[in-house]
Amino acid sequence: AIPLVVAINTSLAAQNGMLIRDRIAMEEARELDTIVFDKTGTLTEGEQGVVDVATVDGVDEDEALALAAAVEGDSEHMIARAIREAADERGVAARSATGFEALKGRGVRATVDGRTVHVGGPNLLSQLDSDVPPELTAFAERAGENARTVVYLVREGERGEPSGGASGGAASVAGDPVAAFALADVIREESYRVVDGLHELGIEVAMLTGDSKDVADAVAEELGIDTVFAEVLPEDKDEKVQELQNQGKFVAMVGDGVNDAPALTRADVGIAIGSGTDVAVQSADIILVQNNPMDVVRLVKLSKASYRKMQ
Ligand code: ADP
Ligand code: MG
Repeated sequence: AIPLVVAINTSLAAQNGMLIRDRIAMEEARELDTIVFDKTGTLTEGEQGVVDVATVDGVDEDEALALAAAVEGDSEHMIARAIREAADERGVAARSATGFEALKGRGVRATVDGRTVHVGGPNLLSQLDSDVPPELTAFAERAGENARTVVYLVREGERGEPSGGASGGAASVAGDPVAAFALADVIREESYRVVDGLHELGIEVAMLTGDSKDVADAVAEELGIDTVFAEVLPEDKDEKVQELQNQGKFVAMVGDGVNDAPALTRADVGIAIGSGTDVAVQSADIILVQNNPMDVVRLVKLSKASYRKMQ
């Protein structure tokens, strides 16, 4: 009788836009006590636009935007798209860049007029050992409180006042940020009901993101999320899932990006959402084709209902 129940379960799932790649995971979903969500594009729309620009003295906003757009010229990341769009909208003069390089989970770099220029977030700044000047710190704090993602423009060799840190090394290709861009993202309407629905089922909700702690905390507070992992590099995302497992939790991961693949594999139940990247889909046990995070709640309920039938 079990194969029959599993078959019913699978076809019910299919009718609800859930593709089951691993039936055991579907049966086990009833036992989940923690579900981890990727932030950008999963709990939020991920359609970010540049809403604010700040620069240090002597750097023009349009010039900074033009430079950032040139460096982002080759990137498919939604932050890159938003920056290019903002430059277009402002009608700033285009600059050309060469030697594009993507720094996964950090940002991008390219060469403009023979000089290395970086654009990226907090993970990039730690890697470059950059100090954020006070003008930009205040800007970033304000942006963070409003759940806005901030990325910085760093031009090779430009260092601010020595701050006693390790920065200022003459041979360094990096520098301190000369401009910052705030990007607005919107929490998906469904996300509120997802968190409430999972809490009603006794499931804890966690969020995993490469974005800054400020933004992650703001989104988590708004949604009532229990646990936050922020500023996590792509290669470390699966470790956060394992941390929860080591605490004895039975964990699902929900994500859509290439970056999420190792965490999807590590999780007890890996759930790819939306069109998802091929890599995410191949690493998942279950694929939610309708790109509706509410399907995560439906999936757990369906698993619980099928299990009762089997007893
Ligand atoms: P998430 O974990 O939210 O899915 P990613 O791992 O794609 O995000 O990126 C994490 C962080 O790395 C971003 O919040 C941003 O700070 C930085 N970043 C990644 N790609 C870019 C890019 N093309 N331009 C600027 N910053 C980037
Ligand atoms: Mg993502």
